[in-house]
Amino acid sequence: MLSRKACNPVVSSRELFGLSAGDMEGRKKRLRGMIEFTAILRPSNGDDLVVNLHDDGQVGANFCNDDEIVCGFSEEESEGGDDLAERSEATDSDDEELYEKSIIDSESEEDDDNSSAQIDVEMDDNNGGPIDDLLQNFKEYEARSAYFERFEKKHHVAVELCRLLRQTKASLATYDTMMQWHFWATGKLREGQPVSTHPDYISREKLFKMLRRRYNYDQKKWTMIKEIILPFSRARARIVLNDAQAAMQSLLTDPRITDEDYMFFNDDPFSPPPDHLDYIGDLNTGRSYMETYKALIKNPSKEILLPVVFYADAAVTGQFVALSVTAVQFSLGIFSRIARDKEHMWRTLGYIPDYCKVASRGKGFFKQTGHADAPMAYQNTYLENEGEDLGEVSKVSAQDLHAMLEVILASFIQLQSRGFYWDLHYKGITYENVKFVPFVTFFKADTEEAEKLCGSYNAHTATVSQLCRYCECPTDDSDYHLAQFRLKTKNRIQRLVDRGDEDGLRALSQQNIKNALYEFRMGQHSDQHIHGSCPMEMLHAILLGIFGYVRDMFFEQCGPTSKLAEEMNALATEAGMRLARQSERDMPKTKFAGGITRGKLQAKEHTGILLCILAVLCSTSGEKLLRDRKKKNFAEVGLVEDWIRLVETLLEWEEWLKSPLMQYNHVKYRLQYKHQYLMYLMRVVGKRQAGMGLKLVKFHSILHMQQDILNFGVPMEYDTGSNESGHKKTKRAAKLTQKRQETFDEQVDIRLQEEHLLEMAKEEMNGREVRNYRQGHYHPAQQPPKIEQPCLGGAKYEAYKHQNGNNCIRLTSRANKKEPLGKIESQLVDFLIGLQEKVSDYMGTVPLHTLHKRDGLKFRASPKFMNEIWRDWVMIDWGQDGEQACKLYGFVDLTQIPEDSSIEYGGIAEVGPGLYAIVESSFVIEDEDGESDHLFVPIRKDVLEITNNMVSKMQFYLADVEAFLRPLVVIPDMGGNSNDYFLLKSRQDWRERFIDYLEAPNHEYPMEVID
Ligand SMILES: [Zn+2]
Repeated sequence: MLSRKACNPVVSSRELFGLSAGDMEGRKKRLRGMIEFTAILRPSNGDDLVVNLHDDGQVGANFCNDDEIVCGFSEEESEGGDDLAERSEATDSDDEELYEKSIIDSESEEDDDNSSAQIDVEMDDNNGGPIDDLLQNFKEYEARSAYFERFEKKHHVAVELCRLLRQTKASLATYDTMMQWHFWATGKLREGQPVSTHPDYISREKLFKMLRRRYNYDQKKWTMIKEIILPFSRARARIVLNDAQAAMQSLLTDPRITDEDYMFFNDDPFSPPPDHLDYIGDLNTGRSYMETYKALIKNPSKEILLPVVFYADAAVTGQFVALSVTAVQFSLGIFSRIARDKEHMWRTLGYIPDYCKVASRGKGFFKQTGHADAPMAYQNTYLENEGEDLGEVSKVSAQDLHAMLEVILASFIQLQSRGFYWDLHYKGITYENVKFVPFVTFFKADTEEAEKLCGSYNAHTATVSQLCRYCECPTDDSDYHLAQFRLKTKNRIQRLVDRGDEDGLRALSQQNIKNALYEFRMGQHSDQHIHGSCPMEMLHAILLGIFGYVRDMFFEQCGPTSKLAEEMNALATEAGMRLARQSERDMPKTKFAGGITRGKLQAKEHTGILLCILAVLCSTSGEKLLRDRKKKNFAEVGLVEDWIRLVETLLEWEEWLKSPLMQYNHVKYRLQYKHQYLMYLMRVVGKRQAGMGLKLVKFHSILHMQQDILNFGVPMEYDTGSNESGHKKTKRAAKLTQKRQETFDEQVDIRLQEEHLLEMAKEEMNGREVRNYRQGHYHPAQQPPKIEQPCLGGAKYEAYKHQNGNNCIRLTSRANKKEPLGKIESQLVDFLIGLQEKVSDYMGTVPLHTLHKRDGLKFRASPKFMNEIWRDWVMIDWGQDGEQACKLYGFVDLTQIPEDSSIEYGGIAEVGPGLYAIVESSFVIEDEDGESDHLFVPIRKDVLEITNNMVSKMQFYLADVEAFLRPLVVIPDMGGNSNDYFLLKSRQDWRERFIDYLEAPNHEYPMEVID
């Protein structure tokens, strides 16, 4: 055992301050001589010393062992929730003797070949067969589990309380307070009796200790700490790691995973990919999977190809303390894309420390001031020799990241290189001793991260020789829509690095680094390796960028500060407001109170902005304004049409890119030319002048999209949007830490593990225990969602005849305050009175409702809803008269009418019992050539009379709500006839229009040479 003395620093501040700032080497040497420190490794390891460096310079040391505790002056810490302190707190007397006995054997065994030592072991990737430990370890855990204590009521109570506290973001200390209260309130405690003396009380620490054991979360394999000296900054990085084998086992045995989460061809884990697939969907339909299968699977009856997908992205936590967590996570491609969208399908291998901050200038400056607090406050940065110095020194800052990645990925690389055995349970069958052959399919990351991973330059200025991380396209050709250049490959870049060929690397815009990801075994479909395996985020980054350029180009052509631009902006904003109030709720955000001209686009806004611009381009006012602006661009013949075509195609393109399935032929043989044409259209119509024109990475990237889809499946596969939702959990975990840079990653990791353990406990309460994985977990069939009966709601109006003979209407009830008193068309009141008279034999007044709900949809018909008229449109099947878009004015309940009433009203010959809507109908306005081939289809409302370009007599119909076909998006034609509108085609139609575009012969889309 270590004595307390060993951890006390013996620093002479006088000596420290005697140093000149520049004397780095000398200082280091002297520091080495002066301070006695012990290497800091795994806090949870049974025999490691943990040194806590406090902000005030106090040093606390804990001897960490599961069952024993020793020194440490960290009382303050345990209150605040320091894990190191908590975990090492004097632990309860263990009543699970049987268990203890059973683990002694297995633990001693483990110690021999222990995987916890893996990270220190030299890799011998190519030696030895597949790894057996993972399966062996699980079997031992199974055997051990026979001795587990029963999961009783008291455990349920403790788990539920912990879960509740997590959900309410309560501090960790709340647990004991709540427990005290619980036992007191249920009369289990005598006055003044501390809760800890009650036999049913379980401390937080004891609970998690038990859960760890119960769900095989061996502390030696989780939240390991490794410290290294970064090769460039020479700063010390403290890296938090999880063992890849443990993480893999945890993922494979997660009881939340159902059979439907897997995707095997023909429901058979050993089934090879079919020879000719006519579609592209999940990643196993991509070339990367297919080719790698052919290359690596030698024994198809025993081996299963295991695609591994990585993800890394910084999650910024907290509003005030901007500490970010960058977790390196992985999931598996034997799970479907939809399954991988779930947060519990990912495991974390490690965290990239926020190292830039450690080595920040501010701190360096403080150090140099010679203030008395400086040396202790920043001893972490002084003590550069205290981590494991890998002996590497680099002149390139990017090397730091890769040095850290190397540490984080080490245990995974070993697992990947040798493969491993596993018992796979799938659809009621346990496939024993299958050999998993892992390969890294792709690394999901945003553009900036991806460039770092590939070691390419982050700068995107004109002085950089190549902007693209995929290919050798010179910056100057980045806007060329027919560009075709050699792809960057691992071998080529590795050769240049080996030779130290700085010029050669600079020519490729590649950093001279040792790329940690080169250790990955990646797809065998190409020799690009990581340079072709960080697929572009088409659905976010690319579209966001490109849609943004298109908006900017549009206003650039209007004249950025012109009156025209102002008017266009006003019209677009107005159109956006109208587009936001529709029965079709599946719409992009179109409400931009501040206008659409300026401002950085947020994700999810780019579609709406283009839609607003399109609405203006189509509207009578918009078109007129553009054409009238003589001498300007838009007076040119056909330019407005070109703009419409460009914007429409972009919107349709996005919709198609979001498809879960694509036809193989479309992607393979059609897409590239049509992408080039789209780029051509942007160049010709957009004529971007600002900045570097269209010499932009995102623009050029369009040329690589086809390859990405062919290689890795549909764009949704590698969209990072789904992972970002997982940040919530990280943020919640971050709140429960001390928010200190030094231990932040570690505490976040422990909190996340605790949350995981609580979820496992919840699963156990539902009858699914991790240990029963090999027998399979039972998941009850999902209850089909309740079918809601169509009904009326909202505000209720009643029409009546006033004594003076006038038709009047009053608001009789309303569902909420959103529907205040307003005005209503007299003709509508007349129509309602007319109806009332017709049905008076069967019912009294007929109230007019403003809301109809059916099939989970809401249709509004309110004369005043939140201070504005809100009247939805709906597609109605008029039988022989076909389908028409109809505007809703209200709903009436006529269920009391008998079947044979023979009432004729509102265009219906025999009104039967049922719910009805009062509507106006419309028809499509066709062009001279009989077509209306646009996303916004012009329609005209049926009216009885128009006076002075205003509708003076409306035409109402009764429509059975059962004839409602689908919700619609309809906006008025701004500046057009008073009864003219535009009907927006459905998103499904957008997608189909893009498919039509793909299928059309290329010669219909000729591209001329652009000078
Ligand atoms: Zn390129």
